[in-house]
Amino acid sequence: MATVTEEQILDALQQVSVPGETHDVAELGLVSGLVVRDGLVQLSIETTPDKVPEMEEFRQACETKIRGVPGVLNVTVVLTAERPKAKPAPQTAIPQTQQSQAVPGVSMLIAVASGKGGVGKSTTSVNLALALASLGKKVGLMDADIYGPSLPRMMGIKEKPKQTQNKRLLPPQNYGIKCMSMGMLVDEEEPMIWRGPMVMGALKQLLSEVEWAPLDILVLDLPPGTGDAQLTLAQETQLTGAVIVSTPQDIALLDARKGLNMFRKVSVPILGIIENMSYFICPHCGEQSNIFHHDGARKTADAQEVEFLGAIPLDIEIRETSDSGHPIVATQPDSPLAKAYVEIAKKVLSGVEDVETRQAQQTPKITIE
Ligand code: ADP
Repeated sequence: MATVTEEQILDALQQVSVPGETHDVAELGLVSGLVVRDGLVQLSIETTPDKVPEMEEFRQACETKIRGVPGVLNVTVVLTAERPKAKPAPQTAIPQTQQSQAVPGVSMLIAVASGKGGVGKSTTSVNLALALASLGKKVGLMDADIYGPSLPRMMGIKEKPKQTQNKRLLPPQNYGIKCMSMGMLVDEEEPMIWRGPMVMGALKQLLSEVEWAPLDILVLDLPPGTGDAQLTLAQETQLTGAVIVSTPQDIALLDARKGLNMFRKVSVPILGIIENMSYFICPHCGEQSNIFHHDGARKTADAQEVEFLGAIPLDIEIRETSDSGHPIVATQPDSPLAKAYVEIAKKVLSGVEDVETRQAQQTPKITIE
């Protein structure tokens, strides 16, 4: 029997139009609860008391649409009318699901994601974390890419995490960054076979049972793609924002757009897109070659109305330094490449400030007389 995912349900809901609105129900921030278990789907949709009659037809249309998703055995959609209706703000709404849990003592969680593997997401996570640290932030780096954990190698960490007396894990550090990865707990050569629930469990443990605090920023290197693990992490942690890494060619950008849409669906603010392997400068003649095209990510960012954070060239120094555990931002901080990462980090921080400002504006003020 096909396993049903929350993503499939949210996809199906995109096809049901909300009365009087142009955005879909998830983009409008009206999904106040979604549980998908063993083919059973429970969805609650927020509305206001005066709109209940007109929303009833919409509720039934949602049930019909969800029932059509392969593998769904039973579906219940309810309208809840407690809170005033949220404004359509697909990019700024912060997920506040009931299970949402920030990591105690960590001010911001920034996810680095890519629609597909091999685009340099981990290399970018490592150098971005180091660049944020160079700007005076206390930074941690968590390898949520449990299928291909590469952070221990890229960060030059060989030691295993130690345990505290109360059985919590102390993350090893290098270059001033606290790091944690499944790759530190299992043999790199050993194949890891994960089933869905085990992935969620492992990721939650890496977040909650590790002594991360105190940190300004925890950078999460997400697994590539837009499946369950990414959605769960986005939903169950209060992600401050997401950064998407893509190479410039069309096929990669297609996946990057899927990544953008996934974060939008769960109302995680998108801090911007980084174009990695953007161009190649020949070390012999200095000529620029656009091996994978060039500027595709910038154009995608413009079209999707998200920030373009910067371009990083395809450069042998980046590959050699990251694969050997001597990331360029830490070991050659004055190089133009390291500076390019620092410029990206500055834009990420200003994006976070914007998100915080918008959030503050949305938070109702309480006046005590
Ligand atoms: P992902 O996490 O997306 O699978 P990685 O960060 O592991 O990708 O990168 C894949 C390979 O590409 C690694 O060998 C890495 O060193 C190399 N790489 C990543 N970015 C660059 C770059 N800008 N220039 C040269 N090599 C790069």
